[in-house]
Amino acid sequence: MSTIHGILERNARKFPEKEAFITANARLTYPQMNRIANQFARFLQQEGIDRQDRVAIISTNSEYFFFAYFALMKIGAVPMPLNVKLTSGEMIPILENMETSSVLFESDFKLLIDDVHKYMTMSHRYSIEASIEEAKGYTEENLSLSINQSDVCEVMFTSGTTGVPKGAVFTHERLIALAAGIAIEFQLSPKDRALTMMPLSHSAPLNDFFLAPFYCGASHIIGDFTPQGFLRFIHEERATTTFAAPVAYLTAAKDPILTSFDLSSMRIFAYGGSPMPLASYQLVSEAFQNNNFYQVYGLTEAGPNGCKLTPEEHHTKAGSIGKTPVINVEMKVVDEAGKEAADGAYGEIVIKGDSLMIGYYNDDEETEQTIRDGWLHTGDMAYVDEDGYMFIVDRKKDIIVPGGVNVFPREIEKVLTTHPDVYQVSVVGVVDATWGETVKAVIVREAEASVTEKDLKAFFNERLADFKHPRIYRFVEELPHNASGKLLKQKVKEL
Ligand code: AMP
Repeated sequence: MSTIHGILERNARKFPEKEAFITANARLTYPQMNRIANQFARFLQQEGIDRQDRVAIISTNSEYFFFAYFALMKIGAVPMPLNVKLTSGEMIPILENMETSSVLFESDFKLLIDDVHKYMTMSHRYSIEASIEEAKGYTEENLSLSINQSDVCEVMFTSGTTGVPKGAVFTHERLIALAAGIAIEFQLSPKDRALTMMPLSHSAPLNDFFLAPFYCGASHIIGDFTPQGFLRFIHEERATTTFAAPVAYLTAAKDPILTSFDLSSMRIFAYGGSPMPLASYQLVSEAFQNNNFYQVYGLTEAGPNGCKLTPEEHHTKAGSIGKTPVINVEMKVVDEAGKEAADGAYGEIVIKGDSLMIGYYNDDEETEQTIRDGWLHTGDMAYVDEDGYMFIVDRKKDIIVPGGVNVFPREIEKVLTTHPDVYQVSVVGVVDATWGETVKAVIVREAEASVTEKDLKAFFNERLADFKHPRIYRFVEELPHNASGKLLKQKVKEL
């Protein structure tokens, strides 16, 4: 069982009757999932998808995502789950960077893919639903292709400061180390019923909170997040574990329908991507009448494994990302010289372990800058308190995280500056009670131009996914710079 699809094949043998994939429209056992993936794999092979070909998956959280994910792995190809909210203009540079024009998509995204195809010829583009139908003629047996645990098997995307997301590359053995670490850390077992409602294009929902219970042979309940859908799935399916962004818990906690659901089956409510202030944490755990909230810290490049904060620790160390790294991971806070920072002193969090990405796709320079001496430099600035707990203070990387998703100011600035009425612009993140952080755009208009907030909102609608849009606009005469002409981002935040 040295590969991810090998785990599926093992589970199909070991748990033949278990309902393993429960979605809005389907209930599949492990053997059913495996058989469909085998047929689909043969179809893709026949169509000319080759070993190590990178293939984008554009799918909601549904059974179709997993048919594609496992089928690609079975033929040694490399699934790259993409955020379904991206526009065609955002998708094209990713595909170009990854040197691929192959995509498997849920049929709802056909128009999007047709649009991409107008600008770059897609060598392989298949609707997953239609291909599964066609694949029904193929044999259902496992494939006999030999695949090594050191083979690349997944690419997850993280945004770079240049704006184009970078592909973090993982092998089977890295993903298995990740999954095993989380499985031990949270004492997962085949009895667990893991609920996955955050987008599978993000590493925490897919690599941690899907793959770890999957590694143990658990059941999976899969869907796209809505507050009520989330609560209903827990109640009806007796879910036991889940991962969600803090903002998702907050919105569910504020929904009056909450009290009509029984959430007592849940033993792990994990959250991460951004901190949850103590007041929100208290509000959520009280509303849910469940105290099993775990904070997890990590990043795409680390698979995302870093460390966790247990429910007990929340009482004394709220706001900390935790003390002890999860299994298969080492972590420390270092100064500029790479030496461990003294207690209380600010430094950068670095992570080492069997579960890191092997590097960025086709970007040795960036990889070498990020992973030095085996240590992944996270860009997160933190200090360690007298009890050894880590507290994040800032991000070296210039990112904004509204509700757990990364937004890169430079990408938004680039779009804004293409507007004829915009002279200068600076985009920053500001604290927001609900989202943790929100995007603010500060704009200097061209002389005599009269562009308004409404105009710019419409401008963004055509160009960027909604989660990246600024929520706050300020129009100013000039941007604050220091004597040497460097933009003062902190001052911009205060404007
Ligand atoms: P991503 O690569 O999208 O997973 O984003 C990773 C970044 O999100 C990290 O480098 C942190 O800046 C931030 N982050 C992740 N988890 C936490 C957390 N538990 N608390 C605070 N910030 C976090």
